[in-house]
Amino acid sequence: MIEFIDVVKSYPEGNHALRGVNMQIADGEFCYLVGPSGSGKSTIIKLITGEIRPSSGSVHVNGYSLERIRKNEVPFMRRTVGVVFQDFRLIANKTVYDNVAFAMRVIGARDREIKERVPYVLELVGLDSKATRHPNELSGGEQQRLAIARALVNNPSTIIADEPTGNLDPALSLEIMTLLQEINNLGTTMLVVTHAQDLVHEFNKRTIVINDGLIVSDAMSGENAYEI
Ligand code: ADP
Repeated sequence: MIEFIDVVKSYPEGNHALRGVNMQIADGEFCYLVGPSGSGKSTIIKLITGEIRPSSGSVHVNGYSLERIRKNEVPFMRRTVGVVFQDFRLIANKTVYDNVAFAMRVIGARDREIKERVPYVLELVGLDSKATRHPNELSGGEQQRLAIARALVNNPSTIIADEPTGNLDPALSLEIMTLLQEINNLGTTMLVVTHAQDLVHEFNKRTIVINDGLIVSDAMSGENAYEI
């Protein structure tokens, strides 16, 4: 579960990025977080990954409490969250297979586990036939799938997808959103951060709308995404 209680985040320059955010995302939920540029979306992601700490308030992530967590526990907390970055962050000189396998190697997974898990995840995202290709031989949609496979491979309880359709045309965007829903159906909590209001509206899922550091709407459908 992810829980924010009265979370305020001010940056040193005095920017108030979050001004008292309360939200709870239960295990297994699918949730959109939408808001215009500068509204605080990235700040929420960075708090969930433990990259930054709140100025005040509490952040709880999958059993860890950000204000109480010890430094040596942070890597374990991070493993509970897979992030699909907006710019994919793929490794150009590694194959599709090795991009995914690498994410397992860095946390010390055994070869046998890697050999079992990587093909499974590549099949799940529909890239099994491209395992030996390099990222520059993939289409934009395929690169996005690879980024999703990598976020998924260590079996996190939560996935955060940051603008997953930012660089994709509408048909591919739909495909990626459908894939994220399929992954959610397998039990992974999904937080999709986007300003793609049309898509949010179409999928009719829980949608948290943030504006100027405050949650202005939290509804079980995408209807209110148009409020901003
Ligand atoms: P979004 O992801 O919705 O575009 P952000 O969370 O990046 O919004 O930013 C929220 C507010 O915090 C903005 O006013 C932004 O300028 C400010 N901000 C974000 N990061 C920093 C930082 N490292 N230092 C100072 N201000 C920041």
